[in-house]
Amino acid sequence: MKKTSYRALAVLGIFSAPAVFAESTAIQCGKLFDSASGRMTGPKTIVVEGSRINQVLDGITAVPGAKIVDLSSMSCSPGFIDLHVHLGQQSNPQSYSEGFRLNPEFTILRAVGYGQKTLMAGFTSVRDLGGENSLALRDGINQGLVDGPRVWAAGKSIATTGGHADPTNGLNHMLADAVGTPGPAEGVINSPEQGREAVRQRYKDGSDLIKITATGGVLSYAKSGDAPQFTVEEVKAVVDTAKDYGFTVAAHAHGKEGMKRAIIGGVTSIEHGTLMDEEVMSLMKKNGTWYVPTISAGKFVAEKAKIDGYFPEIVRPKAARIGALIQTTAANAYKAGVPMAFGTDAGVGPHGDNAKEFVFMVEAGMPASYALQAATFNAAKVIGSTDIGQIKPGMYADIVAMSKDPTQDINTTLNVAFVMKDGVVFKGP
Ligand SMILES: [Zn+2]
Repeated sequence: MKKTSYRALAVLGIFSAPAVFAESTAIQCGKLFDSASGRMTGPKTIVVEGSRINQVLDGITAVPGAKIVDLSSMSCSPGFIDLHVHLGQQSNPQSYSEGFRLNPEFTILRAVGYGQKTLMAGFTSVRDLGGENSLALRDGINQGLVDGPRVWAAGKSIATTGGHADPTNGLNHMLADAVGTPGPAEGVINSPEQGREAVRQRYKDGSDLIKITATGGVLSYAKSGDAPQFTVEEVKAVVDTAKDYGFTVAAHAHGKEGMKRAIIGGVTSIEHGTLMDEEVMSLMKKNGTWYVPTISAGKFVAEKAKIDGYFPEIVRPKAARIGALIQTTAANAYKAGVPMAFGTDAGVGPHGDNAKEFVFMVEAGMPASYALQAATFNAAKVIGSTDIGQIKPGMYADIVAMSKDPTQDINTTLNVAFVMKDGVVFKGP
């Protein structure tokens, strides 16, 4: 009998005892990270029914009729969530010419590979903050055509003319003329009115959230990495329109003034936040704005800036200066009590190395349990999902396991031994 028929019988009351279905899986965890409290508990047995968690039982328990997954020597956690990835790309010395050489058929295949690496690293959910391929990749994953994490995709980031994410930056005038001046449809705005239009276009495109580039950025072909690039009125227009569609708004920002405008404008999260000071931190606390530091990307670009020719000369000084600062900023923000969540900016650095961010957060003085909460409980809050980020009945069965207790040794997150997403095992002991 199929699972659906069992369900129908259960609904009709034909099964009266607590129903355990033939397709149940009992995951026996030596330890279990309680992401809500930030404490390691256990041993526990997680009963998975279809794609959801049905029960969480104390101890290593036999569940009649259930398939046993023995992780009694391991530590389990809710699947990790990376709030800042770009599955459509990965930085390399030829990145700046890829747009002229690569066909979309290839870049989408590459994105599939990056998605697989991300899932196998224990990241069962991500926010993709910029890149057209991410919408198609999300749909392919959701339809079971390819393996990958759950994706909340922003689609094309919204920028202003010449700003970080203006797709025509760096083109000679002949190419720029041929491409035409980008507008709200392409994610470039220059007024509140155009901000509203750009958000509505993202809705039409099928985005799940909005990303804006509130200041200059490191890797764009432009001089300033920190100049403010949106007015408060433009941010407010984007945020208010985003709310109409149930979208959150993530703001890329390095410079102080642009961050302040984004926070006052009501964005959900500040990404990178490199040059934030005490004034910005207290503004974030007051407004409940999340901080997603992306230390991984900062370290990656600072390292690559030392190599001649890796970056164009206009990018290199920004990478060297801004990249090196993010970890210290994250340390200060943690001490100041800014609400923080986990993001790597994978796609700047390599996909699949996402867990390095845990190590960098602990290096910055955060307790391992806080870093784990940032990638589970807190990250789910930033997304606005009540289905992920915790292991409790009703949640999606997104579960990872490691050979050691990550609250004792954070390096164990670099080698997850078990990955379940949606109740399906993708990596097992
Ligand atoms: Zn990014």
